[in-house]
Amino acid sequence: MNKLVVVGGGIAGLAAAFAAKRNNPALQVTLVTGRIGATSLSPGVLDDTPWDVVAEAERLTGVSATWSIDPGCAELLGELGIFSLPAAGTEGGPLERPLVATTGGILRRTLAHASAILDLKRVHGRTVLLPAVDRPHWDSASLVRSLNDNAYGLRFEESGATVLRFDDESFISDLELARRFDEPERVRWLGQQLLRAKQAHPGEVAFLLGPWLGRAADSASVLEAAVGAPVGEIVAPHSGTFGVRFERARERLCERLAIALSASEINRVERAGSELLLHGEGKSLEADGVVLATGGLVGGGIVFSPPSFGAPADGATKIGPSFELSLKGLEGAIATQHGPAFVGSAEGPVLDASAWPRGTQAGALEKVGLVLERDGSLRSFPLVFPVGDIVASCSRTMLTAARSGLTAGERAARILSEHAN
Ligand SMILES: Cc1cc2nc3c(=O)[nH]c(=O)nc-3n(C[C@H](O)[C@H](O)[C@H](O)COP(=O)(O)OP(=O)(O)OC[C@H]3O[C@@H](n4cnc5c(N)ncnc54)[C@H](O)[C@@H]3O)c2cc1C
Repeated sequence: MNKLVVVGGGIAGLAAAFAAKRNNPALQVTLVTGRIGATSLSPGVLDDTPWDVVAEAERLTGVSATWSIDPGCAELLGELGIFSLPAAGTEGGPLERPLVATTGGILRRTLAHASAILDLKRVHGRTVLLPAVDRPHWDSASLVRSLNDNAYGLRFEESGATVLRFDDESFISDLELARRFDEPERVRWLGQQLLRAKQAHPGEVAFLLGPWLGRAADSASVLEAAVGAPVGEIVAPHSGTFGVRFERARERLCERLAIALSASEINRVERAGSELLLHGEGKSLEADGVVLATGGLVGGGIVFSPPSFGAPADGATKIGPSFELSLKGLEGAIATQHGPAFVGSAEGPVLDASAWPRGTQAGALEKVGLVLERDGSLRSFPLVFPVGDIVASCSRTMLTAARSGLTAGERAARILSEHAN
């Protein structure tokens, strides 16, 4: 028993493949990456509990939370090489959490972040300058107004620093602009512009830019050295820049650990004696064990499919579950913590009442997922281990997904080697 297939290449699947290979180097591990999921759409900040829940708890208790990053997660993030980890806290001690600004115009704490993102803890006493560039999704005047309404004593100002160099840079995507900052010459040019803006400003400054500072290279640290001031990115969900950095780091890590990557999709799982067969487009994979890391509704592991979908014009003839797994052949029930979910009517659940978050309570669309056996496996499938966003009612955060992947990868490696002996 030496073949483990991890289906889903987000942070949970990558963590599982990493832990499996670390714990059993003889294991043949294949990571099936599928399409873009939540990890690639996320902005590159890593929480274990949604940040607004933490902020609300701190507000209510008046006590500042102390946090640490699980050592296994810290090791994985260190191996990926694209994150800044707080210096203390990896061994369970308290850490002072980084403070980041978002394109929503708020400041918030996080546990770790992509190294290109500016940690505002580093800018105390400085004015943070945002360039007034002509781009969609970048309204520096509104951002400055909103960010200045903060409880940390931080000051933000618009700056005349030139960031865009060519006409088309007013409308190309963030990701395309980031690609241009993979070029050392372009980074040097930007360094000169920022230096000029720094010299024109009385007092110490820092620069907060969009998610543009390179897809591959760490341009933020090169710029800092050139400008002599902190330079980094704002937190920008959906830009895709972090996603590309993550995918490249995933590729490098898999190559180092001899984890095979397969950029395909799996449609169906079938039992074949003691093995599982995973059928995808035009090819099948044999597995002794499977880590199911296909994500929730965002990643595509779970699909909204109320009985009325595909029903005859005069309506559905039965009432049934409204969510299903995208991968066929696994009879695991989809449920939320509060019992079998969403059986409302043939039209599906009353989404207005249950789907969306209320206060700090996650909405049902975030909770829906697979309910697991106590050992983390799937009912009737003892060698299938769901991890990450596909699991019911766990926090939809990067570190929760990574932790569950690490635990399942380690367990899968142990069980498969026991079966082999
Ligand atoms: C916009 C956005 C902002 C976020 N912000 C934060 C934040 O600030 N802090 C934080 O901690 N978390 C944040 N999150 C949540 C966090 O990104 C997720 O909880 C985490 O990435 C989930 O990882 P995962 O590996 O479980 O799922 P995913 O990253 O969704 O990975 C699932 C993968 O499985 C693949 N897949 C699905 N079906 C198949 C199939 N049949 N065959 C092959 N592959 C398949 C998908 O293509 C995808 O690549 C955010 C998420 C989003 C979308």
